[in-house]
Amino acid sequence: MRRAASIQLHPEALRHNLSVARRLAPAVPMWSVIKAEGYGHGLLWAAQALADDSDGLAVSQVCEARALRAAGFEGALLVLQGPRDLSEVHACTEFDLQPVLHHSAQLDHLEAASVVLPVVWIKLNTGMNRLGFEPAQAPKVATRLQAAGHGQGGLHWMTHMACADEPEHPQNARQLDAFATTVAAFPGHRSVANSAALFAGWGRGGAAAGEYWGRPGIMLYGAHPASVPAEHLPEGPDGDLRPAMTVQAPIIATQPLAPGSTVGYGATWTADAPGRVGIVAMGYADGYPRHAPSGTPVLVNGELCPLIGRVSMDMLAVDLSGVPAAQVGDRVTLWGEGLPVERVARAAGTISYELLTRVADRLQPGN
Ligand SMILES: *Cc1c(COP(=O)(O)O)cnc(C)c1O
Repeated sequence: MRRAASIQLHPEALRHNLSVARRLAPAVPMWSVIKAEGYGHGLLWAAQALADDSDGLAVSQVCEARALRAAGFEGALLVLQGPRDLSEVHACTEFDLQPVLHHSAQLDHLEAASVVLPVVWIKLNTGMNRLGFEPAQAPKVATRLQAAGHGQGGLHWMTHMACADEPEHPQNARQLDAFATTVAAFPGHRSVANSAALFAGWGRGGAAAGEYWGRPGIMLYGAHPASVPAEHLPEGPDGDLRPAMTVQAPIIATQPLAPGSTVGYGATWTADAPGRVGIVAMGYADGYPRHAPSGTPVLVNGELCPLIGRVSMDMLAVDLSGVPAAQVGDRVTLWGEGLPVERVARAAGTISYELLTRVADRLQPGN
């Protein structure tokens, strides 16, 4: 069913943001990460927007990669979680996928398979403790794969940084060192940098010889990954991201407010002066964060206005005191052009990634 709230998608923003990634790490090939339905923008939409300009596309799971092949995408595909079982190993061969291998259970499947995988990536756990082999196991993993005939077209190396959005964090140096030391003994490509690591200058972060690949995700969609507030970002490529998604919804009612009147469930917000509230047809069922507090910015007719009171299921309230001309039918922007999603996320105590992926499947492009 079509909801009052809607999203507009800006494909040229994706391509622009990818060019920012390339500026941050010149001559580094880029896997554009489009997992989680292209961070909520749509898997195929993101693939279509990025395919020509990317060196390859990265998804989490084999099923996503298969959907891309079914849609006719013929370029390089990286599967960040690798195959889950034997049938997915076979699918990697059939659909020419480059799996990331991170666990010995996957090596068991690869040894049992009747096919070989020409190109594989080995994920090293250098301190994130999410996916990956211990660095000390690297030689054994490489030997097992090669003995089974895998990786003859390339045996590549990858790790993932836990604290790249805080470049000064001491864990970064520890992880980069561990990666460089471990992979120095092996040929093959290397890959370290997500968006935050690209901004930190670690496109070739492992400092080991070899070709490095970047893995930008969130920055392609126009959200800055840094842990500093968006309004404090420096000039230059850092501030030059464009939103790929704008979420808008109409004002469907206004109410005059006398001093002392409250707004919404729990009466958590009280007017201290005469004013006016606008009710916007966007709520937590549409993917707006329910915990966004009073004061979270909403863009009304080009002006930032504070959200007031609790977010409802399919409505929220905005203080219209600063925009006397605003009226029923005007569309307000919840995030996107004119209001970076990370500002809304920060106010709501979450991250841009969550806001973007939560509108997936809820709102349709349009209006
Ligand atoms: C999601 C993901 C990325 C992209 O991260 P961003 O922070 O969105 O840039 C890169 N590498 C891996 C392994 C990932 O899971």
